[in-house]
Amino acid sequence: MAEPKKIVVLGAGYAGIPAVLTLQKSLRDGEADITLINKHDYHYFTTWLHKPAAGTDRPERSRVDLSDIIDPRKAALLKRTVRRIDTAAKTVETDEGVIPYDVLIVALGGQPETFGIPGLAEHAFFIRSLNSVRFIREHIDRQFAQFKQDESRTERLTFVVGGAGLTGIEFIGELADRIPKLCRDYDVDPALVKIINVEAAPAALPGFEASLVDYAMNLLARKGVIFKLGTPVKKCTSEGVEIGDGEFIRAGTVVWAGGIRGNRVLEDSGFETVRGRVVVNPYLQAPGHDDVFIIGDSSIVLNDQGKPWPPSGQIAIQQGEAAARNVIALLRGREMATFKYVYRGTVASLGKGEAIGSVGKYRLKGTAAAILKNVVDARYLFKIGGAGLVVRKMSGFF
Ligand code: NAD
Repeated sequence: MAEPKKIVVLGAGYAGIPAVLTLQKSLRDGEADITLINKHDYHYFTTWLHKPAAGTDRPERSRVDLSDIIDPRKAALLKRTVRRIDTAAKTVETDEGVIPYDVLIVALGGQPETFGIPGLAEHAFFIRSLNSVRFIREHIDRQFAQFKQDESRTERLTFVVGGAGLTGIEFIGELADRIPKLCRDYDVDPALVKIINVEAAPAALPGFEASLVDYAMNLLARKGVIFKLGTPVKKCTSEGVEIGDGEFIRAGTVVWAGGIRGNRVLEDSGFETVRGRVVVNPYLQAPGHDDVFIIGDSSIVLNDQGKPWPPSGQIAIQQGEAAARNVIALLRGREMATFKYVYRGTVASLGKGEAIGSVGKYRLKGTAAAILKNVVDARYLFKIGGAGLVVRKMSGFF
């Protein structure tokens, strides 16, 4: 009997987990060995991170142990950091040795794009991982505590968020909800706290209709958020940010939410990339490498107009399942299917009980959109961990 083929999946995010679950479910015993390599032994819900970042939720809620969702009899879990892919040798170099593969699914996610803006990498915070958001939360609390040591330093109570895309706006919504409690806990006058959102484009929330953008901005403005639109962040220092019109905003906290790029591992491995992302073929394979599938934030899938779909959890999940099915087809010598993304819409939360959503012909605001957001989240949790995971993670949400 032929040796089972080695399928290696890199990354346990929104693309990698659905890929492994589909492989586990569909492969016959002994048909292939599946190995999932991930930096942590847990999966985290990236689209929830704005809450623990602002401190409105526990970080633990945004994660689930891999051993709770992956069947260890069907897939081996390796907690390692991927350094490089050697497509000629068909190996993956990690911090703890080299892993060979027959077929590789790369789902390593994205990373913040700083566009070379001086000082951002050194001085700004990024809503990127569970570890990075714990850091933001702790820093925010510390700003209040430090202000109480020297109340002349009001800049400690200024929070600048760069970028008014979904990441920036969802974070601001939570932060605005958290500030009143922080002010009470630390005996701080709320009038001293500033949340400033700096956005280079003339409007916030690209992709949403003007009526929904207006709703979101009015709501956040009522919670005290100051918007500076059409104004890029030009520089970041330990003291604050310099923005487009030359103004320097002194701030104790700068959170950068100006966009994401693909994972550097792909460039480092010699793949041709656009901002770290690889334009994959219709089967989700890397050009010239039929044994390498690239999915999630490090891939680019073109829509019918030849434009890239923006990276999102939604497309990553669909790519994960589709890539797994194509890997199985490849192993079985069958025809692969072209990937067709079914875009279902976007919902952005604006803090507790508030959201905006654009789904098909429907435009939702307020509670209805917030409920829809919960339904979308519950659906994902059910997919990866059944009803038990939904109950464990979403108790108190509905
Ligand atoms: P984004 O690219 O969508 O938004 C970044 C924003 O930063 C843009 O509006 C851009 O104009 C702005 N910007 C860039 N450079 C700037 C500068 N120098 N100064 C000021 N502003 C600047 O990035 P994101 O919000 O991190 O989202 C990344 C991807 O993830 C998107 O495709 C998004 O749709 C997706 N996402 C989805 C959800 C959701 O579905 N709820 C949540 C978060 C992210």
